[in-house]
Parts: sequence; structure tokens; C-alpha cells
Amino acid sequence: MPEIVVNHTMISLVCEHCGKQFERRKAEHDYRIKKGITSRVMCSMKCSGQARKDNRTIEQKRADKAAYDREHRKKPEVKAKHLERAKAFWKSDAGKAKRKARLPLHLEYCRRPEYKEKKKEYDQQYRAEKMYGSEFAEAYLTLLRLDQEIGERMSNHEIRLINDTYNKKQRRRKDYERTNSYELEDGPMGNLERD
Ligand SMILES: [Zn+2]
Repeated sequence: MPEIVVNHTMISLVCEHCGKQFERRKAEHDYRIKKGITSRVMCSMKCSGQARKDNRTIEQKRADKAAYDREHRKKPEVKAKHLERAKAFWKSDAGKAKRKARLPLHLEYCRRPEYKEKKKEYDQQYRAEKMYGSEFAEAYLTLLRLDQEIGERMSNHEIRLINDTYNKKQRRRKDYERTNSYELEDGPMGNLERD
């Protein structure tokens, strides 16, 4: 800040707020600096007050507060407290009523195909970890997916062979005739007499 010595008692200063030039007793100026009364040079109480004033608009203040809150909520102790309160609320009567009122919306949410897909994956992971522990869950899931892949590539013929349902109708008819017929059957050991 340019200080211009006017005479042996007064100096000329420039106000940091309004930019006007003004004179101050040199002794007072030195005293202020020595005591650290003001860090910035102001011509009057009015300028000093206005310089301190919060000139943010309401929108800006809201945005700043929102930014502060976002950071504040990340603190572990604040998070824990919030979680505790949320749990208590959903267990309370008010929470139960709210949940019940929102039930149709929730069902609609669960019916969406992308939710179903996500839930299916989540459930598979959950069951795998429950059955095989976190160590082997991934191995199990890989095997499961491989199995599905093979299943999808198998033909109708192969599936019937594995499930032993090939020629099912024909075999059942023959079994029926064998037990209910009085005709003698030509077996591999020749004609066996019936009891
Ligand atoms: Zn001023």
C-alpha cells in the first residue's frame, strides 16, 4: 500500500474498500500496525463494515452450504449417527406407515427388467458366498456359468440322452406290454416261460 508522507504528523493512504485517498495521523497508523488492529487499510468505519459484509447472493450461500454439507456428511461419526437414526425411524410406527404407503411404488420398482437382472446377480453371489465362503464363491459361480453355457449349446437329443428320457414313450409302451401281455417274449436267452 503506497504511503505518502504529507508532513511530519500526517500520511496519505488509499482505502482498500472504496479506493479513496485519505489522510491519517502517522502516529495512529504506526500504532495500528504495531498492535495489529487492522490488517487492511480502511478510510472509515463504514468502509470497514462493508468490507466485512457477506456479499454472496442467496443462491451462492445455498450452494456453499450444500457443498459444506456434502463434505460434512462424509465424516465417519456423522455417517454413523445418520445410519442409527435411519434404522430407528424405519423400525418406528411412522417408518412402518411410510413403508406401507410406498409399497406399490416399491413393487413397481422390483418389476423392472434391469432390477431383476441386478437382483439375480446379487442373489447368486450371496448364495455362493453363503454356501462356499468368499474363498470358493467365485470358483463356484464360474462353474455354474460354464454349466449354463453348455446347457444352452446342447441339442434336444443330447439333453434327452442325459436325462434318460430318450424314446420314453416307446419304452413305456414296451414295459407295459411286457407286464400285461400273455405273449411270450423273445429275450436274449430265448423264450422263457412265464410264471
Ligand atoms: Zn473507504
